[in-house]
Amino acid sequence: MLLLPELFKETFADLGTSLEDEGVHLVKCNPNYNVHFHDGTNFKLSTDIAVMKEEVERFEGKDGFERYLGFLQESHRHYELSVIHVLKRNFYSLFSMVRPSFLRHLIALHPFESIYTRAAIYFRTERLRRVFTFASMYMGMSPFDAPGTYSLLQYTELAEGIWYPIGGFHKVIEALVNIGKRNGVDYMFNSPISGIQLSEDGKHATGVTFQDGRPSLTADLVICNADLTYAYNELLPSSGYAKSLQSRKASCSSISFYWALDKQFPELSAHNIFLAEDYQESFDSIFKEHLIPDQPSFYVNVPSRVDPSAAPEGCDSLVVLVPVGHLEDYGSNSHKGSKDCSGRTQDFNAMVATARDTILKTIEARLNINIGAHIVNEVINTPVTWKSTFNLDRGAILGLSHSFFNVLAFRPKTKHASIKDLYFVGASAHPGTGVPIVLAGAKLVTDEILSKLKMEPKRLDQGEQAVMEEEYRVMRKLGVPLKSHLDVQSQTAYSVWLQWWIPVFLMLVGVWVWGGIKAGLSMLS
Ligand SMILES: Cc1cc2nc3c(=O)[nH]c(=O)nc-3n(C[C@H](O)[C@H](O)[C@H](O)COP(=O)(O)OP(=O)(O)OC[C@H]3O[C@@H](n4cnc5c(N)ncnc54)[C@H](O)[C@@H]3O)c2cc1C
Repeated sequence: MLLLPELFKETFADLGTSLEDEGVHLVKCNPNYNVHFHDGTNFKLSTDIAVMKEEVERFEGKDGFERYLGFLQESHRHYELSVIHVLKRNFYSLFSMVRPSFLRHLIALHPFESIYTRAAIYFRTERLRRVFTFASMYMGMSPFDAPGTYSLLQYTELAEGIWYPIGGFHKVIEALVNIGKRNGVDYMFNSPISGIQLSEDGKHATGVTFQDGRPSLTADLVICNADLTYAYNELLPSSGYAKSLQSRKASCSSISFYWALDKQFPELSAHNIFLAEDYQESFDSIFKEHLIPDQPSFYVNVPSRVDPSAAPEGCDSLVVLVPVGHLEDYGSNSHKGSKDCSGRTQDFNAMVATARDTILKTIEARLNINIGAHIVNEVINTPVTWKSTFNLDRGAILGLSHSFFNVLAFRPKTKHASIKDLYFVGASAHPGTGVPIVLAGAKLVTDEILSKLKMEPKRLDQGEQAVMEEEYRVMRKLGVPLKSHLDVQSQTAYSVWLQWWIPVFLMLVGVWVWGGIKAGLSMLS
């Protein structure tokens, strides 16, 4: 599922090429999804506004469409503001969160309300509240906890569509590898590293060591995109911060099935969602109790519906993802299993068998098709294999959680705080998870390194330009004279000064007011 296509286009444009020129052919999935409810009814999600009008009115009545447009407007705002102020900005410290250009929009981003609470303002029926919130799962979060900001995902799906690279997602990776090779990158595949090498004083990253004992590789700088919690704990010397990452909230895990079928099932579209009747309970079970829900909601992807190369003629290939709680803790492979388990369990075979059975029965009950009899090949991933094969902490497939205290300045930074020349990119670093978001993070790291090396002037793309213009607007309001665009440097320095002193000033005023209140209260008593 290729979302936020603009971010992919931007990456390739930054590299002086394009997806098309690199042979990546994207096709749009139509419809976006078929959502199947427990009682056999369904909802088609589409970028086609005529389809959406009909679908929304079917459940919400005539005025439902206007409310849908209201939802789209809000989620559009979340998207635009997040791209400019979050995905394209680094948050080096808590003070980065109080820059005026960001604070101005904080309320409009609804970070303190859940995505479900926001959707409930626009949709009256429980069904559509579910339809417009389940995508928070792509951030590995429950719609009842995920900040409202993340309706940006629904927006991009509804306005820009869900895309699929013909030949599979790997085509995008292959294209990036080819661009790298043309530019002199030497790739060493299948080369697990056992540690990030540091200088004697431990203050500089100087290279990496390999697990297989071959000579280590020295480097001027190291960029690490292995899971960040794993990297801090296994590839670097032990530290309090590394330990603290192990107890941070993490995203969910999954039991995933990859099935080759000897038959096509046109009843399934490219993307299918099967929602549990007990919607909230199933999320609570995953995210609060870290269990496998009794009645899971699950996602079925059929790449062969849009890409003939994904299965032999007359056959289908399926990916089924059942979200489940992550492993119990960093060090163990134990999972809590289901709520009926009497104790901790590592019985993954039983868990997989239950999940498989539930999926097949649910699909049969809702679509009247029996796919179980047509599975000719099967690959399975479980929380424990996500951990053992990909080094994902607790088998959490989408990295650290994206709750408010795990994002922005609270998320692990793209640069190590004390070890120089060590950078991080990937799901658990800022800005967060999902391939396009990780690409946005990669651009932040690239810019950081280029500016450190003074190799290239920092690009001013559309987003950064907008931030700069906003900062000027604030300064104009404060009466700071702006002469021309040549004043950029001095004005930026001034705005940096403002960003530091406004919060300090507000804190001092707060302390002063609080002191006054306390003195007044003590006089009264
Ligand atoms: C089942 C599933 C479905 C998903 N579907 C989508 C989707 O449809 N669209 C989307 O945009 N995102 C999707 N995601 C999320 C997306 O895959 C991740 O957010 C993204 O890949 C994270 O990028 P990353 O660079 O942090 O980690 P990864 O892509 O996991 O890359 C990290 C790499 O580091 C390697 N590594 C780890 N340890 C070492 C070591 N010691 N030595 C050498 N190498 C090491 C790993 O093997 C891995 O190749 C999905 C994730 C999962 C699990």
